[in-house]
Amino acid sequence: MHSVVIIGAGGVGSVVAHKCCQLPELFDDIVLASRTESKCKRIAEQLDKPVRTAQVDADSASQLVSLLQREQPELVINAALPYHDLNIMDACLKAGVHYLDTANYEPRETACFEYHWQWDYHQRFVDAGLTALLGSGFDPGATNVFTAYIAKHYFDEIQQLDIIDVNGGNHGYPFATNFNPEINIREVSAKCRHWENGEFVTTPPLSMRAHYTCPEDVGTYPIYRMYHEELESLSKHFPSLQRAQFWMSFSDAYLQHLEVLSNVGMTGIEPIDYQGQSIVPIQFLAQLLPDPAALGPHTQGKTCIGCLVRGVKDGKKRLIHIYNICDHQACFREVQSQAISYATGVPAMIGAKLVLEGQWRQPGVWNVEQHDPDPFMADMNRYGLPWKVTELDPEFQLDTEEHQATNAVH
Ligand code: NDP
Repeated sequence: MHSVVIIGAGGVGSVVAHKCCQLPELFDDIVLASRTESKCKRIAEQLDKPVRTAQVDADSASQLVSLLQREQPELVINAALPYHDLNIMDACLKAGVHYLDTANYEPRETACFEYHWQWDYHQRFVDAGLTALLGSGFDPGATNVFTAYIAKHYFDEIQQLDIIDVNGGNHGYPFATNFNPEINIREVSAKCRHWENGEFVTTPPLSMRAHYTCPEDVGTYPIYRMYHEELESLSKHFPSLQRAQFWMSFSDAYLQHLEVLSNVGMTGIEPIDYQGQSIVPIQFLAQLLPDPAALGPHTQGKTCIGCLVRGVKDGKKRLIHIYNICDHQACFREVQSQAISYATGVPAMIGAKLVLEGQWRQPGVWNVEQHDPDPFMADMNRYGLPWKVTELDPEFQLDTEEHQATNAVH
């Protein structure tokens, strides 16, 4: 029997709460806390098991510490925004609580998605005898564990990695993001970096494109190369990687809207003065866009997210594809959320389960790929994210082409 506090009651926090409630024998005592407590209460009404709710502002270190000292959970699942990671980690250290998140720390003033701020907490978590598990969502999260699993079971050495994230779903809005709009747009409009021969190579955002046919019946989509945070930890933890790239699908409508919004300055992260009031354009824009937690009922279609891994086994070249396919409407029927929130919330619950059960509990700050991937992979099959492995012709290459880049905003 274990107790957790979930912080954040958006798309991801809601799925985490639903999935934890599906394992009442493990997650005995759940508190759902967020800035707007009414959202926690609305989620609590959907759940099969009683969950307590609380109000907390994660920008306030003292509010976080008093919440954790009052509730005394064993683990915090951070499903709020990347800006809050360090505050929540500090509060966990003060209150003696394990920590888990799905996105790395990002300062508000720069969109830089880097791990060093959180890795710097390693010794403090070791000294406190506490575990911090970073990036336990889908990407990062499942994609890191996929890589570790494939490296463990299929290769002597992995050499190239392409993480491919296709959302073949349609939410019916002219422009919406399937997770927090501010974080999504900061990520997509940042300069691209990919790992090549021991260093990160920087190129304009979305300046490389390929047409990718997903397995099964998901379809063919344009995918664009961009930076994603798991490239940093995977290139560090798998030093044999000569190249690692991340690709994401975008519809033409999404890219057109993003380009116009960037061109007129609406995606800017610097505060501007508006009639004597300081506003951040991207935060104002985020207020106007649909709430990702509200997309569930309208979103049709499937996601296909996975890894193409190249390397050598017994002296022979190999190419392995590992992926999960999620159906938006099936996710909605189960937990009242679309598949992106679902595919993030399930691995957060699994990571929490493995820390609480002791299988992934180890003092210090860890990325998910540093642990044994096998129990996580077994739990993905058990709790709603089944995956498949296929062997492809090692000569297969993505049909890449240059694409007119959007202007880098950050
Ligand atoms: P949402 O915007 O839907 O939800 C964010 C939640 O955080 C809201 O409940 C919001 O409260 C709360 N929040 C914001 N500021 C504060 C604060 N100061 N104090 C307390 N709570 C606060 O985002 P998502 O659920 O889509 O995303 C959540 C996280 O998951 C993000 O960090 C995102 O980057 C990450 N993510 C990770 C993925 C992965 O695969 N690894 C994929 C998708 C998302 P309020 O309602 O008051 O604004």
